[in-house]
Amino acid sequence: MTVTVGVVGGGQLARMMIPAAEALGLHLAVLAEADHCSARLAATAVGDYRDLDHLLDFAESVDVVTFDHEHVPTELLNELESRGVVIRPGPHALAYAQDKALMRGRLARTSAPLPDWVVASSTAEVEEFLAQHSGEVIAKTPRGGYDGKGVRVIRSVAEVAEWLELGEVLLEEKVEFSRELAQLVARSPSGQMTLFPLVETIQANGVCAEVIAPAPNASDAFQTHTAAVAKTIAAELDVTGVLAVELFQVGDDVVVNELAMRPHNSGHVFTEGALTSQFEQHLRAVVDWPLGDTSLTHPWSVMVNLFGDAGHERITAALETSDRVRVHAYGKEPRPGRKAGHIVVSGEKLEEVRDIARRAAEAGERA
Ligand code: ADP
Repeated sequence: MTVTVGVVGGGQLARMMIPAAEALGLHLAVLAEADHCSARLAATAVGDYRDLDHLLDFAESVDVVTFDHEHVPTELLNELESRGVVIRPGPHALAYAQDKALMRGRLARTSAPLPDWVVASSTAEVEEFLAQHSGEVIAKTPRGGYDGKGVRVIRSVAEVAEWLELGEVLLEEKVEFSRELAQLVARSPSGQMTLFPLVETIQANGVCAEVIAPAPNASDAFQTHTAAVAKTIAAELDVTGVLAVELFQVGDDVVVNELAMRPHNSGHVFTEGALTSQFEQHLRAVVDWPLGDTSLTHPWSVMVNLFGDAGHERITAALETSDRVRVHAYGKEPRPGRKAGHIVVSGEKLEEVRDIARRAAEAGERA
């Protein structure tokens, strides 16, 4: 009997699950937004993930439902679950990756280290939080933000007035971090857990641009700490599949920024950089098969995102720069700033690996 994993969403994450599914002998079905999605090779249905009937039709044809994004409304997921659909991660866990305010509230009940935060619904509450934090804080829309959209530094109520009119706003202390990190962990329904090595993530304009595996200058004690934070969150929130915990480093400690309950941009580096990719690990976890070894394949691997376009001209230009360049194009229409693909280079020396990856990403880049 073939096991079918149904992925809601036809973006690049679903696309990169295809080779992993094929290797494992799993059948992959994708509920895509449009014919011309990134994961069109596996797209078996085109439908609206906000429509219960479309979701039900899709769910009927698969053994387990998982996700390429976190935008499916929780009410619909609860309804699917009540009708016997197996969903991993389940709606009770996914809710915390969908809503940053809910996430903060839930993490506050664990031992996870957090920045100071509050959910504000009035100008007085914003003013009070600003006053408590030297007049400069981070404001976030609880839902729907991605790639830095829905995140702003504010110094006055006026700068967040338009969001307040729409509803609650999450306010956070502006963390003076030395760097950003991500700790990925995979957890299966039977409770198996496997960590990926800690990585450093480098953002440009609030968007992940580069990832280094492993995170440089991270002591064993520090890695044990980030591992414990991620494992605690995965277990306490009952996450199944891959969980990415985005972290800020402050001194020798970390605070949790965000959670993603699916393969994540910070884990793309592991397709070449680890023995088991995050896509394979996610699939193994959602079907409750034994998890794979995530040891690094090289001392260093660096991932650089390709923004805007990753058509054949840019890809061939990147490949010409070095035969060590591995590319992943997402098959998307070019659009300024869009994540269109990525490059991974692995090797013995970090500086060299990073130079090769950056040069390849710059080659053929349109002005
Ligand atoms: P998104 O959901 O769009 O990825 P994040 O919540 O991860 O948004 O925030 C995007 C970026 O904004 C982070 O990577 C970080 O650089 C910055 N940021 C977010 N929250 C804070 C904070 N509390 N303090 C300082 N910087 C922050």
